[in-house]
Amino acid sequence: MKKTIGLLYGGKSAEHEVSLSTALAVIKAIKFEKYEVHPIYITLDGQWRKGPQLTEPLESVEQLQFDGDQDSGANNITKFIINENGEQIKFDVVFPLLHGTNGEDGTVQGLLEVLNLPYVGNGVLASAAGMDKVVMKQLFEIAGLNQVPYIHFLRNEWVKDQTAIIDICEEKLVWPMFVKPANLGSSVGISKATNREELTKAIQFALKYDRKIIVEQGVKAREIETAVLGYYEPKVSVAGEIKPNTEFYDYESKYKDNSTSLIIPAEISDSVYTTMKDMAVRAFKILDCSGLVRADFFVTDEDEVLINEINTMPGFTPVSMYPLLWQKTGLSYPDLIDTLIELAIERFEEKQ
Ligand code: ADP
Ligand code: MG
Ligand code: MG
Repeated sequence: MKKTIGLLYGGKSAEHEVSLSTALAVIKAIKFEKYEVHPIYITLDGQWRKGPQLTEPLESVEQLQFDGDQDSGANNITKFIINENGEQIKFDVVFPLLHGTNGEDGTVQGLLEVLNLPYVGNGVLASAAGMDKVVMKQLFEIAGLNQVPYIHFLRNEWVKDQTAIIDICEEKLVWPMFVKPANLGSSVGISKATNREELTKAIQFALKYDRKIIVEQGVKAREIETAVLGYYEPKVSVAGEIKPNTEFYDYESKYKDNSTSLIIPAEISDSVYTTMKDMAVRAFKILDCSGLVRADFFVTDEDEVLINEINTMPGFTPVSMYPLLWQKTGLSYPDLIDTLIELAIERFEEKQ
């Protein structure tokens, strides 16, 4: 019997568009002979709109953006589990293809828990902890993972005494510094600062996106990533290197221009790879992850390995690093989707 899959995409997030391309890619690759696919579009302002069941791949993201249903109310979230005849759809698995806030951060995962629906990927805790760069780094510290020095503060502390915060950054960190909103992804709100004036501007910019800010010491390093897949005994893929043509791996280089090269497998020594693999699993476990995670590292010229972050719902188009790493490791994109769905069921059944 075919499994019923709910595909959740879009979302009230700065990464809305990225999610749309991911959803389209999954719809193009998913095995329709195995699954009944129900698309659920979350608009940028947070309305949930269920589309008709799909029986074949779609061609464009426009087809994924359904019009509003006048009867559904402004934001009728429960409507997404009701079919055209008013009956409840029993999803075998929901696939939240959402990036960033209100999707990758545990909020949607919490809703799916309350509805008692199995879902792909990380649970509430891992999603929330992985979205908050400060909490994530504090947990990495507990796991003994090597990472860059950083400081963090809240908006009210900045408003109270900007000079004091800039002084602390200068005291604790070495230039250049990277300023980031704590809760985001896709490089949104991130900038590099090489002096006090730039740092002030960078902090003001990041504060547009979040009330919690992290300032990190910049490293001159290669950016190498691994993909983790599994549950209790997660597997790690080969490593891949990202070579952006811009000064750092910013939003434009991630999604807009094609100048970023992905080198898979990355040219690293066995010992760097072994260290990375071990760190990726430790990061997965300390955040209590499940399903999938992309673990991102910095590797210096001296082969020092530092963990940058993990992403609990990494870019997932066929040209994104996560699926490409699995492809090179021997797992195709359609098979990867199967595995994630199986892992979701395994985790759900364990709880029942
Ligand atoms: P996001 O979750 O938005 O991807 P990251 O922390 O990965 O945020 O930062 C985005 C990019 O900024 C990185 O891929 C890297 O190119 C650059 N970057 C971030 N932090 C540092 C740092 N401490 N040193 C050097 N480059 C950094
Ligand atoms: Mg990230
Ligand atoms: Mg990143």
